[in-house]
Amino acid sequence: MDIGTITCWDDIVGNYRIKQHLKRMIQELKVSKSPIQQQCVLILGDSRGGKTSAAQWLVRCLQCTSICPETLNPACSGTSCRCQSVNSYFGEAGIVSNLAGDSIQTSVNDCMKFATGHEIRDLAKDLAEGASPALVVLDEVGRMAKNGWDEILLSTLDIPNLHWLGTAISADGLDSAFLNRFTILNTQATSLKDLCIWTRLRMRRHAITADNDETVMKLAAAALSAPGRIINELRRVWMSDARVLTLADVEEFSAS
Ligand SMILES: [Zn+2]
Repeated sequence: MDIGTITCWDDIVGNYRIKQHLKRMIQELKVSKSPIQQQCVLILGDSRGGKTSAAQWLVRCLQCTSICPETLNPACSGTSCRCQSVNSYFGEAGIVSNLAGDSIQTSVNDCMKFATGHEIRDLAKDLAEGASPALVVLDEVGRMAKNGWDEILLSTLDIPNLHWLGTAISADGLDSAFLNRFTILNTQATSLKDLCIWTRLRMRRHAITADNDETVMKLAAAALSAPGRIINELRRVWMSDARVLTLADVEEFSAS
């Protein structure tokens, strides 16, 4: 398994409030399947804050055929479960990927790829006719505002049987009536302590050791504003013969 693959909630560093909220969504939409209020969540944060990976992870959990009801982690052990293909629906997906589910359908949409605002309404109407409720993911929803499509989107939110998850860099330009319908969650900067714990967990799982007590801390400190860089560094070490992260590596990393 690639070192960057998220396999459980602990693999998502920091962002506790977002994780807590998304877990509650899974609990309600998938595990308890109880009648609930409509869920409308908007995750805001800059491009390296982890908003898309959080959305991706939520969809993966919703798609998994054997989610653990206690931890809410997928428990399908990397088999042919349909949750395994979710990552490919983000970023390169074409306009829309509708995924059937046992209790909830999910629809992943890159808003950069809509040609008109009406496309989203047509899509929502189709989903609402399905047998189970649907979560509609709108990646980069700020794009809707840029084209004046957020008014169309606002009326689309009233279609029953649908839940919504948007991501955007900021709420600038989005219609206030639209924003009022959403619970807004901001990505948070990661603390050095959290990043060290997370890095050690990844290293342990992939049998990577460090040459010095301070090595991991220095690596985390150098990558605090962009934790994704740690994955690239660990992948490089993992592919080496010795699988030892050294202070010299970290110095080179810090300088790059
Ligand atoms: Zn699964």
